[in-house]
Amino acid sequence: MIYDFKDIRGVHIELTTKCNSNCTMCGRNFHGIVCPKLKLTELSLKDCKRIFSPEFLRQLKNMSMCGVYGEPTLAKDFLEIVKYILACNPKLKLDVYTNGGIHSVDWWQELAQVLNNGKSKVVFGIDGLKNTHSIYRRGTKFPIILRNAQAFIRSGGIAEWDFIVFKHNEHQVKEAYKISKKLGFKIFQVKRTSRFYNYFYEQDPALISQNEQFGKKPFYNNKGQKTGDIELPNNNYYRNDSLKTIKKLIKEYGSLIKYFDKVPIKCQARKTGGIFISATGLVFPCCWVYQQSNYGIFYGVRDLLELNEANALYKSGGIKFLSAKKYPIKHIINGKFFKLIEKSWYLQDLKNGKSKVCARHCGYQLDMHKRQHYNSKNKIFEKKRLPYQVLVFPYFKERGNYLYAIFKRKDLKFWQGISGGGEGNEIPLQAAKREVFEETKIDSEFIQLDSKTTIPVENLGNYRWKGVLVVPEFAFGVKARSKDLKISHEHSEYGWFPFEEAHKLLKYDSNKTALWELNYRLNEKQRKERNGQVIRSSKARLLEKRV
Ligand code: SF4
Ligand code: SF4
Repeated sequence: MIYDFKDIRGVHIELTTKCNSNCTMCGRNFHGIVCPKLKLTELSLKDCKRIFSPEFLRQLKNMSMCGVYGEPTLAKDFLEIVKYILACNPKLKLDVYTNGGIHSVDWWQELAQVLNNGKSKVVFGIDGLKNTHSIYRRGTKFPIILRNAQAFIRSGGIAEWDFIVFKHNEHQVKEAYKISKKLGFKIFQVKRTSRFYNYFYEQDPALISQNEQFGKKPFYNNKGQKTGDIELPNNNYYRNDSLKTIKKLIKEYGSLIKYFDKVPIKCQARKTGGIFISATGLVFPCCWVYQQSNYGIFYGVRDLLELNEANALYKSGGIKFLSAKKYPIKHIINGKFFKLIEKSWYLQDLKNGKSKVCARHCGYQLDMHKRQHYNSKNKIFEKKRLPYQVLVFPYFKERGNYLYAIFKRKDLKFWQGISGGGEGNEIPLQAAKREVFEETKIDSEFIQLDSKTTIPVENLGNYRWKGVLVVPEFAFGVKARSKDLKISHEHSEYGWFPFEEAHKLLKYDSNKTALWELNYRLNEKQRKERNGQVIRSSKARLLEKRV
């Protein structure tokens, strides 16, 4: 027996096989189209009530609603199912994995209310920014996802941003992390996908040394034509390092198949007390065995070593005996299929029926899945936030007059200069330069202003420092070489205005004062230059002293 019914603590459930997206490396995608053998179906509230008794739900600690072949929130009864489950077990940690590209703002607000037990969260799969996200997660739109995530977060929901890193988006990881912080995501997780793993490596180890094959997966359009490749990131840090382990294993064992033959199996489902339930209501020990059982039917795989799980299914009487719509979960996990899977771990080798998928995922020397995750809790992106702010106004001289750029905040809808906080060991000038470059790509001459204000820490999101109630804000001007700015996602628009207009539009008095000082200094400098007076070089005005 893999485990006893009373030891079940977690459920991974696929509520539906329907999806609004068509990700390149998803199991539902078959050469650019939805796998023709995939049955589009879902679990209803009625099904869930039949499958999950209140007593069973109460014994669970966690549940994840994560599609193997579908987007969970597309299940018609999704909200009702979540309500039912949490009503039976209000302490359950319920994680919903979504592409976030569907539903209205109201819907996401309601979900935040429903998931409000302080433990549950929504994990948004956002693989890049506006210009890259949909390359992989096709059919979803970045602005819609952020709109939905914001609606969810502002209504009190706990959100996580999962970012699968590829070559085409690796340069955006840090900016995405910053956006996630500003929007209030609790966790930002880099996913170093294991899906570049290729079944053919097992057959032909020589392929691994060919970078061509190793780091690429083909990309198909919806007519089944190859249109390009999706590629591993260049930065090793973003690569799943189990790909390196595979090379070592081949060296040690001769081939991956030989490693699978010999490796002892430590079942993760047993360790965590987890079961998987498909959108058709079938119970498996985990989603890997579920997917593997479909290989022959879905993708026409004929390799006998890949079909051990399907054979176990056949020998145990077929899928009907795994249906939680017909049989209690207890009965299923004590049934023949679960016993055959467990028995297979101790068989001599794959040829004799040892489960390849179990050896691949739960052999003790290789764990591609676990090594995918690296999150912001590990502080890999987090530079220490310093207790000060910077405020910067870009200026541009046009026909002898100065214009000033101001920016409209996307979330709060008011006009301001560029603002941000110091990080790591930065002095205010360095922080100003970084913020300006990140927000507008201006990399030019800065003027330090004398204007300075203080800001209550409660206006700075989650940042807190011991004993600090207000932080100083240092102000700067920066010369723009062009009026064409590339603004970041944080602002919805920007404009170039003469001093009086910009002054009127700004919300805060501290912004107005800094702009007044900048305008005065620039015009004064211009007047002195016209009169041939000696003026201090702009470099002398640069703030170089540390806070
Ligand atoms: S969003 Fe999820 S279920 Fe849908 S295609 Fe992408 S990976 Fe597959
Ligand atoms: S792949 Fe096999 S060994 Fe691993 S968790 Fe699933 S059933 Fe257990």
